Amino acid sequence: MQAVVFPAPHTVILDQVADPRCAADEVVVQVAQVGICGTDLHLYRNEYPASFPLIAGHEFAGQIVEVGPDVTGLQRGQRVAVDPNLSCGACYFCRRQQANHCLNWEGIGITRPGAFAEYVAVPARACYPLPDTLSDTQAAFIEPLSCVVHALNRLRVWPGDEVLIFGAGPMGLLLLQALQRSGAARVAVVEKQAHRRGLARDMGAAAAVDAAADQIEALRELAPHGFAIVVDATGSPAVIERALDFLRPRGQYLQFGVAPQGARVSWSPYEIFRRDWTIIGSFALCYNFEPAIAWLANRVVDVAPLVSHTLPLADFGRAFQEFAAGRTLKVHLRPRG
Ligand SMILES: [Zn+2]
Ligand SMILES: [Zn+2]
Repeated sequence: MQAVVFPAPHTVILDQVADPRCAADEVVVQVAQVGICGTDLHLYRNEYPASFPLIAGHEFAGQIVEVGPDVTGLQRGQRVAVDPNLSCGACYFCRRQQANHCLNWEGIGITRPGAFAEYVAVPARACYPLPDTLSDTQAAFIEPLSCVVHALNRLRVWPGDEVLIFGAGPMGLLLLQALQRSGAARVAVVEKQAHRRGLARDMGAAAAVDAAADQIEALRELAPHGFAIVVDATGSPAVIERALDFLRPRGQYLQFGVAPQGARVSWSPYEIFRRDWTIIGSFALCYNFEPAIAWLANRVVDVAPLVSHTLPLADFGRAFQEFAAGRTLKVHLRPRG
């Protein structure tokens, strides 16, 4: 089959590799659509634990074409989305409902071959059958939307909250929609790209302001006492360093963006104490596919405007460069055309 392979860090090739065979408790999925994610860039740059050569790709859906002998409840021809997070179910964290911190965690497209290929073998337990009404584009958004669902489970949105999101990339725009539909009164966005600010406004953002310093003053007018919830969806230490300046007393700060591993910011513990602040992290997802599917199937969240490119696998190299340069929104690949 055709596959995009990272043979070593900072190298990507389109290659012919052997078709995957499924183990007894696995199925083989023919990939219909797969998204490129920031994590793929971290893998390419060797900034995330992975084993090379690697076929990445973890945001995907497709059709089952082969079923292992021990698998029950799944059939050939079925459309499924696949949760790439494989937890053991038996370790200290799994037994405390923290599967995203599993001590024996494996990731499809991270520690084992992923979906930047025509076919991928996956454990049957990771498959979620899809309603026919869900498009391939929606289905490839289940994984990133599940991360947003996990974040909302970590936060406590109070009715009428005013929210500020830094960053209106695909994840920031998903967070915008999710927070609007979870009780927030107004959601404002800070974003440096005009096109993304326009999308945020189209999606109902109360304000979409430029990251320039003078525009930041506009946020103070919008929420003179600060925002009840401030979300970082940039991962930029410079942005994170200033983010708490906009948080009102008893506010919640959500670290959603992935900062470089060694990055440090300077926050005042006195202010965290004095203002009753809550600082929340949100890592990946923890069995959140079902609510994400329900949101998409019921059109609570609209993902179509978040896709800037839908391309064949052969265009991966060029698309990956554009993505790395921040010139795309979500890029989807269709290995079968
Ligand atoms: Zn991802
Ligand atoms: Zn575990």
